[in-house]
This record gives sequence, C-alpha cells and structure tokens, in this order.
Amino acid sequence: MPVSRLPELDRTVRQRLRDLLRREELTAMELSRELGIPEKEVYAHLEHVMRSTSGSGDKIRIWPSECLACGYVFRDRRRPSRPGRCPACRKSHLRPPAFRLG
Ligand SMILES: [Zn+2]
Repeated sequence: MPVSRLPELDRTVRQRLRDLLRREELTAMELSRELGIPEKEVYAHLEHVMRSTSGSGDKIRIWPSECLACGYVFRDRRRPSRPGRCPACRKSHLRPPAFRLG
C-alpha cells in the first residue's frame, strides 16, 4: 500500500512557515494567506513547530493578543490560537496574536 503523501506536504508547509517567520512577524491569518492553507491548519503547524523547536535556539515568539476595547493583553496564553473574547471587558474586538521565529 502506498503511504499518504501528507507527512511530506506537512514538512514542506512547516519549512515555508519557518522561512516566513524568520523574515517578519505574522498573524495566523497572514500565514494562512501566504501558505494557502486554512487558518486552523496554521495553528496546528504552529503548535508542531513550537514543540519541535523548544530546546534549540530556533524558538517561536508570540506577540500576545490584545483587546482593542480596553487594552487587556493576553500575556499568559500559551496556545497560538486567537482568544474568543476579553476576560476583562467581555468584548471580542481583539488584535490577533503574531508570531516570529528566532
Ligand atoms: Zn477588553
């Protein structure tokens, strides 16, 4: 039985994702556009890259999401996905987190 080509494609996408994040900081939405994959797949790849680069010097840094209504910053958030609403003012007008490698 031929094996799925997906693992190979995943590696290619993650390599491109790394290259993009070495050049500039990007949000998941921007990465989705650049890579041509859905935003939720971007999060899955980001989590994989975050796991696989921990321990090396090649580390993903997260610019935390911020509430545009009251200025609350989601500093303690470790997951790369965007939060739904602000715990301080309950509004959902949020700047999404941005990512950068290195
Ligand atoms: Zn708020």
